[in-house]
Amino acid sequence: MKLYSTNNIQSEVSFKDAVFNSMPQDKGLYMPISILRLSDDFINNLDKYTLPEIAFEVAKNLLGDAMPVDDLKALIDDAINFDAPVVKLDDNVHVLELFHGPSLAFKDFGARFMSRVMSYFLEEGEKQLDVLVATSGDTGGAVALGFLGVPNTRVTILYPKGKVSGVQEQQLTTNGQNIRALEVDGTFDDCQALVKQAFTDPELNEKFRLTSANSINIARLVPQTFYYFNAYAQLLRQGVKKVIFSVPSGNFGNIGAGLLAWKMGLPIEKFIAATNANDTVPEFLKTGIYQPKPSVATLSNAMDVGNPSNWVRIADLFKTDMEELKKLVVGFTYNDEETVKAINWVFDTYSYVVCPHTAIAWQALTDYQYDNASADTAGVFLSTAHPCKFPDVFSAEITAKIDVPAQVKELESKTKLAIAISKDFEDFKGYLLSAK
Ligand SMILES: *Cc1c(COP(=O)(O)O)cnc(C)c1O
Repeated sequence: MKLYSTNNIQSEVSFKDAVFNSMPQDKGLYMPISILRLSDDFINNLDKYTLPEIAFEVAKNLLGDAMPVDDLKALIDDAINFDAPVVKLDDNVHVLELFHGPSLAFKDFGARFMSRVMSYFLEEGEKQLDVLVATSGDTGGAVALGFLGVPNTRVTILYPKGKVSGVQEQQLTTNGQNIRALEVDGTFDDCQALVKQAFTDPELNEKFRLTSANSINIARLVPQTFYYFNAYAQLLRQGVKKVIFSVPSGNFGNIGAGLLAWKMGLPIEKFIAATNANDTVPEFLKTGIYQPKPSVATLSNAMDVGNPSNWVRIADLFKTDMEELKKLVVGFTYNDEETVKAINWVFDTYSYVVCPHTAIAWQALTDYQYDNASADTAGVFLSTAHPCKFPDVFSAEITAKIDVPAQVKELESKTKLAIAISKDFEDFKGYLLSAK
């Protein structure tokens, strides 16, 4: 597999280099030079494959010669060791549950795969790998649990003070070992800006071997394509052939992976980009003007992104044809009040609890289907996190219905380990240079 930078189509790097660099020096993002279509035979027979088998076939198609197939197979079996079931709620309304991994969010797919890819490529005697990661809530936990105890790696997580939930904060601040948490007095965008600046800082790059675990890393994106194929496989088993996906979106990695799956031949009719009040992309799809804005805080805090990093990748996939993009992707945006209403509606109707991000995807699917009734098309909304990660948004009645997994209950007795810093780059840099 070879990749180029979206800012320089002539450039060419290996998968290994793209994973370790995370972002090209020219500040573009890495994209595969060739995205081959999977065979029709594979797509039409997806229902005969398990999730790890699908993951292997899709990864092999994308990664090509980046690693021997036996190693890739072992890596995938280790990384993708939990389920992603499609649950039917109603006629043509299904939920794809992506929260059955260790941190209870879909980001476990990306984080577990990436940590194992990095550890695979790290050679004996090489300099310690310093992973920097900005989180709006869920990335931190997934990356912490993905890298915890992985030899020769150290993870530094930056999270916005007071803007993540209690369970999220516990997941990213109670690990110790090779995981450090920085509580930044600012927004997620500030955290992301600090990480981006660190990568272009000569002194830090001289001293440390820096890499990123954010969804800008191509190794996060690749495994997120797997569950789109696997969801389609499950629907094929139910006799469904036409599918639309509604994706709760913040940094646009998840929907970006869906579009990559589409590019590889998965026959998806439509993607719904569902956002909270941070509506940069839905605005673009409506007006044709891409206008990043500062992020605003909402109940669905993992989507509080005003300038989605992965948009560059999506635009790049469609570079010759923005009209095609607009035909395939529609945008919907909801405020907090609408989010709460959706949570309550889903609970009252299906006795099913959705987290606030998932609620937005459900509402967008419902509104889309209302305008585009189609009896033979299944709607799937992605459930990106377990509701217990967001306890503050639910009524007492709903809270009582949430099954809190054992690993969350255990977190309560652990000690918070976090260093407070400002959003000033010199403060962050000072910490990195002085901390041992
Ligand atoms: C990260 C996250 C999102 C947004 O995903 P992107 O890939 O950044 O668009 C949505 N929901 C939850 C629960 C998340 O953790």
